[in-house]
Amino acid sequence: MSSTPFLSVRDLRVHFSTEDGMVKAVDGLSFDVAHGRTLGIVGESGSGKSVTNLAILGLHNAEHTKIDGEILLDGQDLLTSTERELERLRGNKMAMIFQDALASLSPYHTIGRQIGETYRKHTGASKREARARAVEMLNKVGIPQPDLRVDDYPHQFSGGMRQRAMIAMALVCNPELLIADEPTTALDVTVQAQIMDLLKELQQETGTSIIFITHDLGVIADIADDVLVMYGGKCVERGSKKEVLSNPQHPYTWGLLGSMPSLEGSVDVPLNPIPGTPPSLLNPPTGCRFHPRCAFTREVGGATCSTDEPILRLLKGRGAACHLTTEQRDRLAPGLTAVVEGHGAAAQPH
Ligand code: SF4
Repeated sequence: MSSTPFLSVRDLRVHFSTEDGMVKAVDGLSFDVAHGRTLGIVGESGSGKSVTNLAILGLHNAEHTKIDGEILLDGQDLLTSTERELERLRGNKMAMIFQDALASLSPYHTIGRQIGETYRKHTGASKREARARAVEMLNKVGIPQPDLRVDDYPHQFSGGMRQRAMIAMALVCNPELLIADEPTTALDVTVQAQIMDLLKELQQETGTSIIFITHDLGVIADIADDVLVMYGGKCVERGSKKEVLSNPQHPYTWGLLGSMPSLEGSVDVPLNPIPGTPPSLLNPPTGCRFHPRCAFTREVGGATCSTDEPILRLLKGRGAACHLTTEQRDRLAPGLTAVVEGHGAAAQPH
């Protein structure tokens, strides 16, 4: 990873006040994203992945949200930036694509107008120039007959085409950071693969940094350079894709790998879902937040896992927050065979 990250997040805390108390949705998260790299953030629902990225974009509800820490985008601290400055950065220097394109696109305006308006807002281009740019972007993301389809409304596009249109809208101003929040989850496998290929191609062309949020390690295997595993609002494991998928160090990552199907493996290989449910972020467990679901607390011994919070210590950007020793992890890691290249990380129990 480059020594000067494009995005640097330090000790980020995003807490929401609710009628029942303070929800610690993100609780002390740090990571970097270098120019032209893709960071995959993986975890179950409610792990804090999406909240982290809404905080980067400044799209949280300010009235009920307390945010601490530091988010530096190309040296500018986003947490101390004004709403006007953030508005200027959004769509221009950083952009986001969401899971549900239909909900994100206005049904009342043509695709071309929506892409063009984003372009005009940030560049001051004329309507004619904006329309030409919309056609160019639709062509770039693989929409056939873009000069005709530019006048279609979102409901006239298929799900895959809408997702492409949303990517076109996100990239229309050549943002340097693209945040993709489960952008392929609602699509069938073939379209999903096409969208991932498109994102990779566009990244190669433009050098955009990408944060890709997903619950699916197979998607991470396909697209990420680096991986951050989140659990209960915290990072529990970090490293390069190869390190995390080939040699995972945290019992939660073992669980994620063990609970996903292998594209290459036999359909007879049983999946092992992680027992239990994600923790309450209103009253998170003491010690290690994963301890109520972890099968290895006895190996650590005593009540350590339920009383002492494990610290994430990184060596060259690699590490896991767990009390197990390296020797214990080597002995206990449940024979995971990850397919690091190509879509579909696989977990094969011995
Ligand atoms: Fe499991 Fe303890 Fe490691 Fe947490 S610290 S993952 S509970 S072994």
